[in-house]
Amino acid sequence: MSDDVLRHNLSFNIMCVINPASHKIKYSLFSERGCVNNSPSHKDEEKLLFCMDSQTELLIKLLKEKREAQGYSLRKLSSIIGVSFSTLGRVERGDGEPDNNTKIRILEWLGDDARRAGLNFDSVALVHFRARKQVDSETVQGLLRVADYLKRKYGSDSIHTVMEQSSTEDFDAAISLTKDEMEIMANAFRKDVGLLENEPLDPFRLKIEGVEIMSFAEVSGLDDYLKSQLLNSGKQSWSAMSIPLEEDTDKWAIVWNNSQSQKRQRVSLLEEIWHILLGHKLTRITKVADIYGRTFAEVDEHDAYYLAAATLLPSVVIKKLVKEKQKISEVAAAYGTTTELIEYRIKRLGLWREYKGMKVTLSA
Ligand SMILES: [Zn+2]
Repeated sequence: MSDDVLRHNLSFNIMCVINPASHKIKYSLFSERGCVNNSPSHKDEEKLLFCMDSQTELLIKLLKEKREAQGYSLRKLSSIIGVSFSTLGRVERGDGEPDNNTKIRILEWLGDDARRAGLNFDSVALVHFRARKQVDSETVQGLLRVADYLKRKYGSDSIHTVMEQSSTEDFDAAISLTKDEMEIMANAFRKDVGLLENEPLDPFRLKIEGVEIMSFAEVSGLDDYLKSQLLNSGKQSWSAMSIPLEEDTDKWAIVWNNSQSQKRQRVSLLEEIWHILLGHKLTRITKVADIYGRTFAEVDEHDAYYLAAATLLPSVVIKKLVKEKQKISEVAAAYGTTTELIEYRIKRLGLWREYKGMKVTLSA
């Protein structure tokens, strides 16, 4: 496939469609099974139209009805829901499939009207990425393109690459692991890969069954524009992402940003690995740089980060550091981490006061 064809197909991939069976929006790859053929031409857009789901048509119908009932012009609605005037116009004319982000904004605006009609958002961009809050939307779009590319490269042939939200997930999301449990898990992990109690871990050497782990540089087949975008302008704004490759399996791809410092890369990669080892699911709908997507629950984020830190810096190492008053910077250098990560470990292990030697007394 030439780069042009690839770019063309990718541009259609970040979408959600509504599954008529479940009345839920599902994330789907439009380039599969004949919806879009491989020749980049205007014909494709006609085909996309032809493929438009009846539920998407319903969404557009409700949009138009509500807008007219409220007496809003397209321009007025555009400013209310934050979708451009020209895009809204195209959507209402049925001229091309609205993208993921547009559909979600429309759904939000329709609110109860959408719910009464059986429409809701369930599954949108299923990617987890560690990125700064100020990440720009171009970088996020770029990351989503890489995610879709990898899904097609390593994923199954099934039409939908979806993760269905089940009713138990809210319940699961409320459960956090205790610190003791996580310390034990981190030590067991280290033991399994054959490390000594205090031996530094090189996460870049880790291999995990069913998980494709690669640096961004190792992702082959991306167009040069996308590559330079994510490594240059997006350099500091994202550190890693995990991409579910198949429905209901533990097949994932992890890509980490190799243009960041090695210290950052180590903990970013390990955090993604722990999300997968803990069976975390992308359940939380989030908004990053104006783009809606799904990510892990807040509590899952804490656990994965804690475990990443504990795996890199086992408690014996931190306890020794505190007891012997070692320099944080020296231990950080020996274990390839930032000094902030060492401080995080000291604090989370409850040893900060001891490390600082802060005396506490009662007055006479
Ligand atoms: Zn995370």
